[in-house]
Amino acid sequence: MKITNKYNVPETLMALATKEYYSKGKADFSVTEIISPPQIQRLRKKYHEQIEQDVSDMLWSLLGSALHVVAERGQTENHITEERLHVEIDGVVLSGAIDLQKTTESGIVITDYKFTSAWAIRQDKFEWEAQQNIYAWLVSKAKNETVSGVQICALIRDWSRREAAVKADYPPAPIQVLELPLWPLEKTEAYIRERLEAHRNAKVADDWGDALPECTEEERWIRATQYAVKREGRKTAIRVLDDLKEAEALAEKEKGFVEIRKGESIRCVNNFCGVNQWCKQYQNSLKEAE
Ligand code: SF4
Repeated sequence: MKITNKYNVPETLMALATKEYYSKGKADFSVTEIISPPQIQRLRKKYHEQIEQDVSDMLWSLLGSALHVVAERGQTENHITEERLHVEIDGVVLSGAIDLQKTTESGIVITDYKFTSAWAIRQDKFEWEAQQNIYAWLVSKAKNETVSGVQICALIRDWSRREAAVKADYPPAPIQVLELPLWPLEKTEAYIRERLEAHRNAKVADDWGDALPECTEEERWIRATQYAVKREGRKTAIRVLDDLKEAEALAEKEKGFVEIRKGESIRCVNNFCGVNQWCKQYQNSLKEAE
């Protein structure tokens, strides 16, 4: 991957951006790799040399790296920070680096730090749940320890005090600890096998020049179409609804109008996957929309 410096940021940030903080060591797969969509993984491998990213767009991942360094310094009794574990399953070595493990009377509680947005934290994040449960599985297999809880410590980068004061479903503070469901180990193991199979199949398809498995709606972070009920002369919407009929009825009552806020695939449109220019699925969807 080429890292550019279009805005002339200090060299120290460039050095940080180019440094590899995490390596999966001798593992065949990392946990983050297996939970991410096979299409993204294949395209990233294939176009690795051509992928370009400006250091200015890497702010949050740089801060993520900084947070890991700071977290390591905050050593506290009964807490293990930054432990990488390896476990073999069906001849494949899987590894994962766990941000924080706290020993409690009922077992280990696993926490992962995530820089995220206020929008993302209010969505169902299956990937977060799966990732934490695979870490729990690694702890159980590699250390023979019981895990009693999995959670995310979300650091909300665009948090707004004003929004928090007016929106009931808005996070009340810029840091939120989210408890996630803890899966039975058998369910996690079945899920790991399923993901490994999906990645193997994608590789075979790619090697044979066949189409890659498409990213699902969930994997593309679909934001559904919404309908804003507005009135002439008023800047903000009276209400934003998911249902067109409901919005039209409210607009009639309020003597206003409905503005359609078209849904989109957040991950594709913003190129959060980093490969949208080589992705046939996304490029075809753009052509269809024309
Ligand atoms: S552009 Fe969208 S569909 Fe294509 S790989 Fe990225 S997330 Fe998946």
